[in-house]
Amino acid sequence: SSLFASVELAPRDPILGLNEQFKADTRSNKVNLGVGVYYDDEGRIPLLESVRKAETALLADAAARSYLPIEGIGSYNQGAQKLLLGADAPQIAEGRVLTVQALGGTGALKIGADFLRSLLPQARVAISNPSWENHRALFERAGFPVETYAYYDAETHGLDFEGMKDSLNALPEQSIVVLHACCHNPTGVDPTLAQWQEIASIVKARNLVPFLDIAYQGFGDGLAQDAAVVRLFANANISMLISSSFSKSFSLYGERVGALTLVTASADEATRVLSQVKRVIRTNYSNPPIHGGSVVSRVLNNPELFQLWEDELGGMRDRIREMRHQLVEKLRDRAPDHDFSFVLTQRGMFSYSGLNAEQVEQLRAEHGIYAVSSGRICVAALNSGNIDYVASAIATVLK
Ligand code: PMP
Repeated sequence: SSLFASVELAPRDPILGLNEQFKADTRSNKVNLGVGVYYDDEGRIPLLESVRKAETALLADAAARSYLPIEGIGSYNQGAQKLLLGADAPQIAEGRVLTVQALGGTGALKIGADFLRSLLPQARVAISNPSWENHRALFERAGFPVETYAYYDAETHGLDFEGMKDSLNALPEQSIVVLHACCHNPTGVDPTLAQWQEIASIVKARNLVPFLDIAYQGFGDGLAQDAAVVRLFANANISMLISSSFSKSFSLYGERVGALTLVTASADEATRVLSQVKRVIRTNYSNPPIHGGSVVSRVLNNPELFQLWEDELGGMRDRIREMRHQLVEKLRDRAPDHDFSFVLTQRGMFSYSGLNAEQVEQLRAEHGIYAVSSGRICVAALNSGNIDYVASAIATVLK
């Protein structure tokens, strides 16, 4: 029989499946809130002016394309780590931080997972309940057993902080804990800085291995503010891994621009760790592509372009915040018995709306509005043209 005769059909990715369904929907007023992508007020994925300028400049002095080093573009990696830890971070000055270019945040997670798998073959991985749906699959594929720690409290639409602490305290030493450093996906619920302080203490006391995932830096309160957790952990002298992504903050989804950063205890340790991380990369895809990293590096290392980018990022952040305000206001008018004010305290692109699977299905079937069955909506896909329609539809399914 055929070599592949026994291969089973894998289940469809639930969110990508939703996109296909959306595309096939012929209703002209349909709205896709299922995505994890920022759209502007015209409903388009923006091409940032800072990116366009960097690309124009790159084209003007176009160079031949040799291979990049295994770890990628040096100026990109330095830019990425400064953005996380701060330009004058003592850990960087001491040579304890290493960064490698990665294929998006996903690639950074995978390089980190593969590296940890050789370092801590017996470890388990704990992810938040709920988490980005790829976290579990990615760490399982890397060979780890994956469990969850308490996180979201559906009653309060907030953080189950006591539950979270109990879960973390119950983990065996050297368990790997995946933490969303800001703008939690899918809930939009983040711990406060005081709560992060307590989390850091537990991580330290229990000798846990933090893997900070930061895919939305700049979408919460600002570039530095959103990295506060990374800096808090670093200043508490906690060794850690950080996966970061520029997919959203540069609107460069398809360029696969991410980075894996490790904060170690000494320059000597960093040298040895880098040599092993490079081995993981070398045996996977050898070295990263040039274009996306060059664009981001130009922006990060040119003060004028950096300022432009920070302003554009601030514009995206403000627009999302404005949509949160409008959604809450419009739902107050249309569904006065329901309190949606929690949407204002959520951060980043997403909101766990509190809608159940049945209501989400009703939104799709009767109104052509697509959301994830968990009730996650992408606030960044709302705009002045669709928000009234969406608010009215939500009010209808709440009845
Ligand atoms: N982590 C989280 C929490 C995410 O939401 C995402 C993207 N949706 C990623 C990582 C991966 O980012 P990238 O698209 O850059 O691979």
